[in-house]
Amino acid sequence: MRRLGNYLNPVVRLGTPHYSFLFALLFSLTICILSELYAYNIARDPMVVGKYIIFINVFAILYFSFRDAFRGGAVASAISVLYYFYIIYTRNYSGQELVSGIETTIVLGVLYFLLAGIIGWLKRKIDTLIVNEANEKKWLQTIIRQLPVGVVIADAKGKILQTNRQLETILGVKIPIGKVAGKDMVISTMQNGKKIKTSGLPLAQVLQPRTELLDQEFVVEKPDKSKVYISVNASPIHNNEGKIIAAASIIKDITGQKELENRKDDFINMASHELKTPVTSIKLYIDILKRQTENSKNKKLSHVAKSLRDQADRLSDLVNNLLDVSRIQTGKLNFQKESFRLDLEIKELIDALHDESEKVKIIFKKPKSVTVIADKYRIYQVLTNLLTNAVKYSPDGRKVWVSLLTTKKKVTVQVKDHGVGIAKNEQKKIFDRLYQVIDATEKTFPGLGMGLYISKEIIKRHKGKIWVESTKGKGSVFSFTLPVVKTE
Ligand code: ADP
Repeated sequence: MRRLGNYLNPVVRLGTPHYSFLFALLFSLTICILSELYAYNIARDPMVVGKYIIFINVFAILYFSFRDAFRGGAVASAISVLYYFYIIYTRNYSGQELVSGIETTIVLGVLYFLLAGIIGWLKRKIDTLIVNEANEKKWLQTIIRQLPVGVVIADAKGKILQTNRQLETILGVKIPIGKVAGKDMVISTMQNGKKIKTSGLPLAQVLQPRTELLDQEFVVEKPDKSKVYISVNASPIHNNEGKIIAAASIIKDITGQKELENRKDDFINMASHELKTPVTSIKLYIDILKRQTENSKNKKLSHVAKSLRDQADRLSDLVNNLLDVSRIQTGKLNFQKESFRLDLEIKELIDALHDESEKVKIIFKKPKSVTVIADKYRIYQVLTNLLTNAVKYSPDGRKVWVSLLTTKKKVTVQVKDHGVGIAKNEQKKIFDRLYQVIDATEKTFPGLGMGLYISKEIIKRHKGKIWVESTKGKGSVFSFTLPVVKTE
């Protein structure tokens, strides 16, 4: 019964471009035969046909044009026209009646074919659209199924519309279509060590009018209690009126990468601790050697001792930086805050750098008294990093400017150079751990890319901000802020 209903219902058949010829032919012929039987045997008036046949024919043409496109409509039209001629012939029309009968039939025939043509064309168009959309959906589904990353698409209410096999492999659970993540099923998810609520889940985040999520890291606990690190990109899908109608998210399994990073961190931690003691001893021995050679007449020996001390200092800085990086990673970077004059620290550092090398030209623009409460040693470390970088990445002898901008609540320290500058796409990355700008056209500068990472962490932990404004080839301005206690 249902199959018969589907066969007859033209709406169900939309998107099925199989156009029958025979059904329209048999149906139209049946109408003619039934009409003749009715006129002669029931109504007993051959002329009664004229009262209803046009309505029935128009209905049949509309129906078949919509069901079987022009092919169906044309068959119904042709049979109707032939039937009208048959009526004219069998009812013995003559004279003026015959002429107007033939004329009416021709006009009706043209109208019927026109109707069949328009509706048939529309039907074909709708079918093509539906078929194309279905094909596109299939292509997309095949691509999604084969992607090496997890994919999840949800509607505006967060109900899951589509996922792929890779997602289930990553999360270790089957994600049921039609359910709402975080409501109908619980996936234990954490970010930055904290369990996140339903509203914090990636798709939920982008469904509230939020921007996209880019490479956000989460940790998911699988049903077997093992942990998987994922990186998520998600964005809302808008309709033409700009309303959010769905959201799509791509999930990458970064557990392998994270484990490698953890092993690297462990190695840095271990190596820096192991190096610390011998480097301190070497420095001590070099100091003894230096003191003994200072008074000696052998100038060469005293020069060697000084160079040794410089190199040992660099080595020691490197080990200290490595230790700091590993302290940041393990959350063990501690601060001892005290009240001190920031301007005096800057002056002291500039003097020390001028003493170290004659090539350095740092100018402290309009110094003024600024008192802050911070870890003096760590802030000195940030200042050292910014100033030595400004000198390192500038041509020899080029001036570096330091200035202090104060408001009631904060001080901004600016370090400006006219050196090599940093390309726009690199400016955010230089604050990442072990990131160095690699430019084939530039000479390589010594360093390991730890200084700005450590500086950023120090400033962040002092409730300040650090950033860079720079133009490649023209120079850079590094700035950081600190809350102030007192200004001049
Ligand atoms: P590094 O020890 O390599 O200098 P940093 O973390 O201090 O490490 O700096 C990271 C990167 O930022 C550097 O490799 C360099 O490419 C870029 N950089 C830092 N300061 C400057 C500057 N003043 N001018 C141009 N590039 C800079």
